[in-house]
Amino acid sequence: MEKHLEKDPVGAYGHTPLPLEKELEGRVRWFIRLRWLAVLGIFAFSWIPARVFGISLPLFQISCVGLGVLFLNIFYSFLRGPVLTKEWFAHLQVGGDWLGLIFIVHYTGGIESPVLYYFIFHVIISAVLLPRRACFLNATLALTMIACLAVLEAMGVIPHMPVKEFFPWYLYKHTWFILGELFFLATTFYGAAYLATSVTHTLKKREAELIVAHERLHKLDRAKDEFVLRVSHELRAPLSAIESLLRTVEEGYAGQVPEAMSDILGRIMRRTGFLLQLVNDLLDFASGKLERPKKEEYEEVNMEEAIKNILSLMHSKIEGKRLKLSVDSEHVTLRAVPTEIDLILTNLIDNAIKYTPEGGSVGIINKRVGRQVLLEVRDTGLGIPEEARPRIFEEFYRAENAKTLEKEGTGLGLAIVRSLVRHYEGEISFHSELNKGTVFTVRFPIKDDSRT
Ligand code: ADP
Repeated sequence: MEKHLEKDPVGAYGHTPLPLEKELEGRVRWFIRLRWLAVLGIFAFSWIPARVFGISLPLFQISCVGLGVLFLNIFYSFLRGPVLTKEWFAHLQVGGDWLGLIFIVHYTGGIESPVLYYFIFHVIISAVLLPRRACFLNATLALTMIACLAVLEAMGVIPHMPVKEFFPWYLYKHTWFILGELFFLATTFYGAAYLATSVTHTLKKREAELIVAHERLHKLDRAKDEFVLRVSHELRAPLSAIESLLRTVEEGYAGQVPEAMSDILGRIMRRTGFLLQLVNDLLDFASGKLERPKKEEYEEVNMEEAIKNILSLMHSKIEGKRLKLSVDSEHVTLRAVPTEIDLILTNLIDNAIKYTPEGGSVGIINKRVGRQVLLEVRDTGLGIPEEARPRIFEEFYRAENAKTLEKEGTGLGLAIVRSLVRHYEGEISFHSELNKGTVFTVRFPIKDDSRT
């Protein structure tokens, strides 16, 4: 059996926002993860050359810098929430790293240090995390720091700490060498900043356009739901009236119904019943998407009771098809709106009954598993054909085999269930095997009252 977890890549239900903030947070987390590697690199690239190859590196000072960056990164990694996506936090990280880097440059020969090239990484990272101007500003800051270090060393204000094995000449006082190094560093930094920001700028622009398009779609989707809601609302009252008038006629209150008419009347009633069902489903579907119930409507719903009630309403259908029913239900409660839980149960159980031929079995399991309420509705019915599996949560979709067994169906039940389950931040999935049966599994998270 293949497991199908419902997916909604376009966010058509529950109005999933575009993940711009999430993405930025992801990038910042990636930056923090990269820094663990950098810390490892600081220790490895100082201790290995010093201990294995006998290169004269000031290990103590470099290790102190490594520890400083490590502690800073531990602090960053504990931060959560919106602070991560703030621009000042990105500046703080880049600034902290550059302070560490400038110290390492100093301990490895100042303007003669090969570590100078490593500044380029942060120019690129700034381009990813920050706006274009900030990236150029950071590149300028790095150059200023390097220039200050070079000048202070050249003037003898701070000691020059060369690594003779890397760079056996003394050029740190040589003006043209300093100027040349600074010139090429400047062109490299600004060139990299320009290239990287050009790429990210285009991507960020596309992202912003996508957000606008998504919002527009969302608005259109809402307008469509509002239209459906209004129309179905207007249709329901006259349809209910027609149905009850027809029943009055069928039951003979308006006079004896001739034999020939009785058959036609029955068909009209079935059709009207289906229309009413469709209108009700459309109403549930649209209102479920548009408006969430108020806080006062939430209750501790006793799932065991709710299942019992729904089953009692379906008793005649189960008997009529001589289905074997098994219920394994625990006393679990879920903070929810009772009518919504009833809708979920009704749709799933009704499907299991509808799509199981006479003499089959329907089973319901309801229990608490950790911090979740698990609901399982299984049947030994038709099963869902493979080609239909990715589509069964779509509005109005019905698989061919289902249409053969049950001519009338709105194809809205599972769309309603999915939309509701999503409102409770739950998950719905199914296993199915053709002509053997189907299991629908719903998992609801158990949350604190305050979050409803
Ligand atoms: P409807 O039952 O009105 O057709 P639903 O949205 O409830 O609409 O279901 C959509 C489709 O998913 C059904 O038409 C059927 O093809 C399939 N389906 C749902 N539940 C089952 C089940 N228990 N067994 C087999 N097929 C099912």
